[in-house]
Amino acid sequence: MSGFDTFVMVDWSGGNDTGKTPRQDAIWACIARLGRAEKPRYLRNRGLAEAWLGEFFEAERAAGRRVLAGFDFPFGYPAGFAAAVTGQDDPFALWDWLETRIEDASTANNRFDLAAEINLQVGGQGPFWFNGLKRDIHGLPRTKSGYRNPFPDRRLAEERAPGAFSCWQLGGTGAVGSQVLMGLPVLARLRRRFGAAVWPFEPLRTPLAFVEIWPSLTLGAAPKGQIKDAWQVSEIARMMSSLDEDALDRMLNVTAPEEGWIFGLGHEDELREAAAQPPRLTNDCFALPPGVHWTPVQETLELLKERLSPVAAVEHLPVTDATGRILASDVTALRSNPPLPNTAVDGYGFAGGRPAGVHRLPLAEGRAAAGDSPGVLPAGSAVRILTGAALPEGVDTVVLQEDVTVADGKIAFHGPVKAGANTRRAGEDVVAGETALTEGTDIGPAQAALLSAVGVAEVAVYKPLRVAILSTGAELVEAGDRAAPGQIYDANRPMLVEMVRRFGYQAIDMGRVPDDRAALAARMDAASKTADLILTSGGASSGDEDHVSALLAEAGAMTLWRIAVKPGRPLALGMWSGVPVFGLPGNPVAAMTCALIFGRPAMARLSGRAWQVPQGFDVPAAFTKKKKNGRTEYLRARIRDGQAEVFASEGSGRISGLSWAEGLVEMPHEALEITPGTPVRYIPFGSFGL
Ligand code: AMP
Ligand code: MG
Repeated sequence: MSGFDTFVMVDWSGGNDTGKTPRQDAIWACIARLGRAEKPRYLRNRGLAEAWLGEFFEAERAAGRRVLAGFDFPFGYPAGFAAAVTGQDDPFALWDWLETRIEDASTANNRFDLAAEINLQVGGQGPFWFNGLKRDIHGLPRTKSGYRNPFPDRRLAEERAPGAFSCWQLGGTGAVGSQVLMGLPVLARLRRRFGAAVWPFEPLRTPLAFVEIWPSLTLGAAPKGQIKDAWQVSEIARMMSSLDEDALDRMLNVTAPEEGWIFGLGHEDELREAAAQPPRLTNDCFALPPGVHWTPVQETLELLKERLSPVAAVEHLPVTDATGRILASDVTALRSNPPLPNTAVDGYGFAGGRPAGVHRLPLAEGRAAAGDSPGVLPAGSAVRILTGAALPEGVDTVVLQEDVTVADGKIAFHGPVKAGANTRRAGEDVVAGETALTEGTDIGPAQAALLSAVGVAEVAVYKPLRVAILSTGAELVEAGDRAAPGQIYDANRPMLVEMVRRFGYQAIDMGRVPDDRAALAARMDAASKTADLILTSGGASSGDEDHVSALLAEAGAMTLWRIAVKPGRPLALGMWSGVPVFGLPGNPVAAMTCALIFGRPAMARLSGRAWQVPQGFDVPAAFTKKKKNGRTEYLRARIRDGQAEVFASEGSGRISGLSWAEGLVEMPHEALEITPGTPVRYIPFGSFGL
């Protein structure tokens, strides 16, 4: 039933034009797709809002996108009201009734008069109350004194939503009554014009649907400095567009025929959780510019870097549990390192440097040790001080104990000693308030030390990237099983599973699938439910039995990346149910090389890691090779006696060469002639995280 492409959330207003400068209590709208919200739009009056919504719905219709539009006011009144006013208990009868009667100019409207008219029609002191105008209006009480409401005060939905306002109250902080009166006529027109379906009164089968929202249901206060209404529409739009189809369907499954309902009521936690998820990738994230044939490796990497973004969820962990994870936000030092000036050595501290010559200073009582809070040293004397101790007041220089003799309550040493010698300045390493580590950093032992030193005990980290690994091919059997003639053992899966683990991600073994499209689709469905990335091998090219690329192409979200690389075949990059798919070639040598060169940095981006460039170095070649222009080549290599030797055969079926090698020699795109001694770039497997 759902399957919406675009979400637009609108914070409505019952008041008049709010002026040029964006401000609260105006109309705000925000568009979101796939968990990414655009900049909120400021719409200063209803006329502009209706015009903009009309244009937007037109454009989305033309683009073939389904739109779910949310408005933050009730779509229905408490039971009995529609019938009392229109003679029918049909909410749309009321929408149309209001539409023919509400007069709306940007600076004035007749909402209070119409409310009074309704009050008189249904018998007097209510249901509407509050008059925002100076003049008294017959039939519209200004306050609730003497108020008598023939209808329920609240809708069922409002009874369940603490803090929700009654739609009878036409003004005052938080009141929603005017928004309903001024909003329903606009919705009535848009509904008619676009054939929109309205939730929960109608099934949502149309290209445009309206839902009632109430941002306060799930959102707290806006961050400091942001306009509340603008922030709310952006958050709600992002939240709703983050929901998967099943969740959205469940939340839309509501029966409330006359009064309507508030979207998400009873699903608040799930909605907040969806909003905490990172944005999904778009279906066209792997699209290549038209006319591209062979993409050089460097360009391919730049495309991946630009197109991919973190898809792993974020959680907060104590630093001690966060090692092995990736920082999801910059970390600010809470304390300087060192927090106070201290001594780097065991020795004697005093004030100021000393010139050449012998110096004698009276030795003060006691000592300063690490952990002591700094005392005060009388001027002209010295104090015994131990490594790590904060410098007492009156000490800025320390002389090494080995250079000092102590006798008769005095110390003696030879100058010169520079002022500040053997001490560390406060904050010389890190200053409190500075960024200690940036988003995307791997938290290893060194980072755990730094975070702790600057007083950070808890950090936001990405959850480990979940990578589903799947082999495809009718010829594959499991190692150890009986292999019929024509069958081979699946070598890629064990290799890729271990690679993914060594990269630091969670490998999910999804087994093997024969060359059968339905079976492959079913396996990919299963993988897309548990993984953030699907890594397949085999069937990625454009032949008859290349079902990975065929399926992704059918799903309308695949690009065959023909990369100027050897070894390598085309990579099939696409999306399956919102999850990126990396279709590696079947050949194990090509699969491993492509996984190292393209898969690893792609996974890094998806996992939240900073972009990774494997560090190599130049070594003299121990081999001879003539290389053509026009593609980058990777040779299985290792270093012996300071020289890079390469595997005897470049044959891409030679799995043994992968074991023989300890790294790769990277040969640039251009033509090259290599003889023994020519420097070549060697990248050890360790640089790839293996
Ligand atoms: P494909 O990319 O499916 O055309 O496969 C290319 C070559 O790699 C064929 O010779 C396949 O038999 C072989 N191959 C595909 N998948 C695997 C695998 N998982 N293990 C070993 N060889 C494979
Ligand atoms: Mg195959």
